[in-house]
Amino acid sequence: MSGAEALPVGALSPVERAGEGPFELHDPSSGEVIGTVLLAGREEVDATVERARRGAQRWRKVAPADRARLLRRLADSIDAASEELAALEVRNAGHPIRAARAEVAQVRDVFEYYSGAPERQMGQQIPVAGGIDVTFHEPLGVVAVIVPWNFPLPIASWGLAPALAAGNAVVLKPAELTPLSALRLGELALEAGFPEGVLQVLPGSGELAGRRLAEHPAVAKICFTGSTRAGMDVAVRAAAGLKRVTLELGGKSANIVFADADLELAASSAPGSVFDNAGQDCCARSRILVERSVYDRFLELLEPAVRAVKVADPRLEESEMGPLVSARQREVVAARVAGAQVAIKGEAPGGPGYWYPPTILAPVSPEEACFREEIFGPVAVAVPFGDEEEAISLANATDYGLSGSIWTRDVGRAIRVARGVESGTLSVNSHSSVRYSTPFGGFKQSGIGRELGPDALEAFSEVKNVYISTDR
Ligand code: NDP
Repeated sequence: MSGAEALPVGALSPVERAGEGPFELHDPSSGEVIGTVLLAGREEVDATVERARRGAQRWRKVAPADRARLLRRLADSIDAASEELAALEVRNAGHPIRAARAEVAQVRDVFEYYSGAPERQMGQQIPVAGGIDVTFHEPLGVVAVIVPWNFPLPIASWGLAPALAAGNAVVLKPAELTPLSALRLGELALEAGFPEGVLQVLPGSGELAGRRLAEHPAVAKICFTGSTRAGMDVAVRAAAGLKRVTLELGGKSANIVFADADLELAASSAPGSVFDNAGQDCCARSRILVERSVYDRFLELLEPAVRAVKVADPRLEESEMGPLVSARQREVVAARVAGAQVAIKGEAPGGPGYWYPPTILAPVSPEEACFREEIFGPVAVAVPFGDEEEAISLANATDYGLSGSIWTRDVGRAIRVARGVESGTLSVNSHSSVRYSTPFGGFKQSGIGRELGPDALEAFSEVKNVYISTDR
């Protein structure tokens, strides 16, 4: 793809393109320019929100069964376009092709799951004297979904599908680095028959378009995923208009391995839990905490597993880990690791592209920045602990609280530790984090609110109570 005109730009018309000008997009595996996109300026944001405001009025009047049908149709269109969407994610975000296909399948499933919601979002009938009392779930109006570059399409769908199912119009702002799959999704929605203004994709920078959406008076809610720093800025701007927010922010999750665990399985699965998407994953289990009596044995088992991670051209079927998203992200990761002691290092291609090898840091003190702060690259620390209490205390020794894993054969301990760790999404003897049917979100500075699962619609609706007198 070359030149701004070759790229779809969502619902924006040429005369409205008065924003920040063309922005170059890169293939992270080669560094090559693959196209440009026009970033929205303030006037384009305002025009898009105005279309969304009108779209929301239309959308809330669409019958629940028809809203459901359109969501199902979009899920089908995503399925039919899965190879195309996966290829965009490979090219624009550097995701290995097999991972990209799995992401697109998840996006399809998310739309399918929430297509069941419009006809099941039921209110209550509450016993009262002198009449009847009923509750309704009303849409909020215009919702802005602001997403990062690490999982461009899945994270967009976690906000889009429940927001649309609940009857809102959505403006989706992709990260400026990775807008291509989102733009295609916007086209698929129009092709599926969504009314104009109901789902718009607005490429733009966080500084300008993101901030304008967060403070725009006609936007009722911001569903934001990204860094804690930007999430705080969004929260402050949204607070000025008392907008609702869902914030899904950073993480520094622990992978806690007790001596009685299946050590072979814990060690062989640890690389996948942190090097998936080259560690650019808010759920990355980037702190491996191992009971001291098996620490050395665990590192012996971990070393071949780290070296076996196939870091290669993301177009290749055998590729398990691709490059970092940008040259800047590689600089950020290198700076966050500088000075720390490397215990294990895997292989990564040399030459062009933003490659970084899988890396385990040890020994590391819990006071060091690399233990507490998000690195957002393929880097984990390994730290020993003495007992259950210390494991929980180390796991909680960070401002974040998003995810985590616990490896033990002792069910009672698994539950005690799961209850003790200040984290929103934990798994025992596995690294499962995000399922469309279960809630996802963080404690502490990892965010506010929960996405996905059966309750996500509540985050995109207001409860209205209506009392009807039956007295004459
Ligand atoms: P940001 O948090 O800055 O970006 C996430 C999204 O928010 C992008 O769409 C961005 O736009 C937008 N944005 C940025 N600032 C604002 C703002 N003030 N108001 C509204 N929207 C805004 O992440 P970065 O890309 O800068 O990454 C920096 C670091 O953040 C990473 O190294 C990593 O540590 C962490 N991060 C964590 C993520 C997570 O899921 N936990 C995801 C991404 C990053 P645009 O990019 O177009 O400017």
